[in-house]
Amino acid sequence: MKVGIMGGTFDPIHFGHLATAESVREIFKLDEILFIPSARPPHKVERQITPELHRLMMTFLATKSNEFFQVSPMEFLRDGLSYTLDTMTELTKKYGAGTELFFIIGADSMADLSKWYKARELLSKAHFIATNRPNVEVNLEALKEFFGASAMKHIHQVSTPGLEISSTDIREKIKSGKSIKYLVPEVVEEYIIKERLYL
Ligand code: ATP
Ligand code: MG
Repeated sequence: MKVGIMGGTFDPIHFGHLATAESVREIFKLDEILFIPSARPPHKVERQITPELHRLMMTFLATKSNEFFQVSPMEFLRDGLSYTLDTMTELTKKYGAGTELFFIIGADSMADLSKWYKARELLSKAHFIATNRPNVEVNLEALKEFFGASAMKHIHQVSTPGLEISSTDIREKIKSGKSIKYLVPEVVEEYIIKERLYL
């Protein structure tokens, strides 16, 4: 089995995440995509993140119309910072050795993969698929230098339909009273309005 993992803060989840996941699923022929909202991302400790229940709910709502998309609250069930390595270790146990894991990340995140917690061990457990984000180039040479040539078979790059959407932009739009229509699924927009998020 081939399982894709889409990790993120999803604060809120938007069409950039969804379209990217769907396109990677087809290109890599993945059996399913697991959306895993991050509880306490080590690189976002300085920002106030929306309570996890809201982020989880929005992720459920956004993905429910796609039979290949699943959501896992596993990072909320662990204490401490949310390290991807712990998540991969847990997933390897859950799915067994016959399953290959494909972690989907934006080119912005791939660019500093070497700074992730126990990066070399992490790369040995899963494939990493970098998807394009505006104005970011992944420096494959730098990654090769850090991880070594043989590890590069776990690093992939794909070009997906680039949607220039970010959660930061969406939060700012809401704060300044602007529309977020066509940036997030309608069910997510309705949830944000009902719960008065990001005001
Ligand atoms: P923020 O602005 O709060 O950082 P974000 O829009 O970057 O939010 P994250 O939850 O940080 O969203 O992203 C989760 C993953 O999805 C990351 O790997 C990120 O690179 C990727 N991603 C985010 N937005 C897009 C997009 N528009 N297209 C493709 N990938 C995206
Ligand atoms: Mg981001």
